[in-house]
Amino acid sequence: MKKLVSVLGATGSVGASTLQIVRENPDKFQIIGITAHSNVALLAKLAIEFMPKFVVLSDLNLVSDIETRLAHLEIEILIGEEGLDFLASQKTDILVAAISGFAGFKPIFKAISVGTDIAIANKEALVAGGHLLMPLAKEKDVNILPIDSEHNAIYQCMMGHHWDDVEHITLTASGGPFLAMTREEMHDISPVKALKHPTWDMGAKISIDSATMMNKGLESIEAAWLFGIGREKVSAVIHPQSIIHGFVTFKDDTIISHMAPADMKVPISHALGWPERLKIQTEKLDLTQISSLEFMEINHEQFPCYNLAHQLIGEEPCYAAALNAANEIAVSLYLENKLAFGDIYSLCTKTVNMIEIRSLDDYQSVIDYDSFARGIARSIALLL
Ligand code: NDP
Ligand code: MG
Repeated sequence: MKKLVSVLGATGSVGASTLQIVRENPDKFQIIGITAHSNVALLAKLAIEFMPKFVVLSDLNLVSDIETRLAHLEIEILIGEEGLDFLASQKTDILVAAISGFAGFKPIFKAISVGTDIAIANKEALVAGGHLLMPLAKEKDVNILPIDSEHNAIYQCMMGHHWDDVEHITLTASGGPFLAMTREEMHDISPVKALKHPTWDMGAKISIDSATMMNKGLESIEAAWLFGIGREKVSAVIHPQSIIHGFVTFKDDTIISHMAPADMKVPISHALGWPERLKIQTEKLDLTQISSLEFMEINHEQFPCYNLAHQLIGEEPCYAAALNAANEIAVSLYLENKLAFGDIYSLCTKTVNMIEIRSLDDYQSVIDYDSFARGIARSIALLL
């Protein structure tokens, strides 16, 4: 029987890889819903190809455009946040959470609430609300399958093993485009250069997060929630070849690592197919062509964002929610050339230091706190 799948963020980089896997495995999946924020042309094209039951466009200004493009088809068009929530509340076998940023939190919460398994790429939702999403998933008996390549690697390394035997998990980082530069040299670097990632082809937000190494800090928080581990059990190292994506060190000093081509189709296919493996097309990894595998410590002076995020593991969840909000504001200002690259860190650290602590005990409190922290970050940005 085909698995019923909804893809949130279908027009993005992870969305594209997900739908490519579906194309390569037409007998295994049926697309129920796809969503985009404003890329109407691509959303319509994908709708015509996959004929889902629902299409969601969250940008309210473009509704008539999508309606015109799909008028001749039997597809229900939903709009705005309500549309996204409605789709997420339709029980399917798996929901691919590939929206970028905190905007993905609400639909993930809704999907878990109705018992749909989640293939999660959207790390920001876990960073800001992992303390609610993970217990809810447990309560609803929902599987949360990581798509983020490092987390998927750890998940695979742990198959057949017990967390009680684990000493440490290590996420790898390519080091991004500025690995050879000092912090001063990076300070005023342009978005065009920051968007050029050496090994992965990704959306704009995560590409900037990789250049600042905030991505690895956010991923450490993500790992702590996904695997239920403390700060001392997770760290990251630079591995420029991006061949080993993560490794687990056990108490007997065995290290189990996961290798794969630097292609998101590998972790996505694992999460989509789980517990089975799917046949997919990738550029095969030829280990005989690899002359070295290097591993280096992250230089905290060079990349302060990593530590800023990592140190928040185990603290009141509002800190990570505030950091995530500030970082989203900082990255969008930087992409609009309104903030220097080096000030992304300043804006994030100042926001985290200024916010008031609140306990985020329920869904609405996380959403309200995200708005509150964004407001603080915007006002700090005016002073930088
Ligand atoms: P992209 O920017 O390529 O795509 C984002 C998707 O989300 C698009 O479909 C976009 O629609 C939609 N979207 C953006 N903002 C909103 C919003 N406010 N409301 C609703 N939908 C929205 O991102 P990526 O695919 O690169 O990343 C997606 C997530 O996966 C991120 O959390 C990222 O950290 C994570 N991830 C990505 C990896 C990668 O290789 N790309 C690797 C590991 C994790 P539209 O196209 O219309 O703007
Ligand atoms: Mg990753």
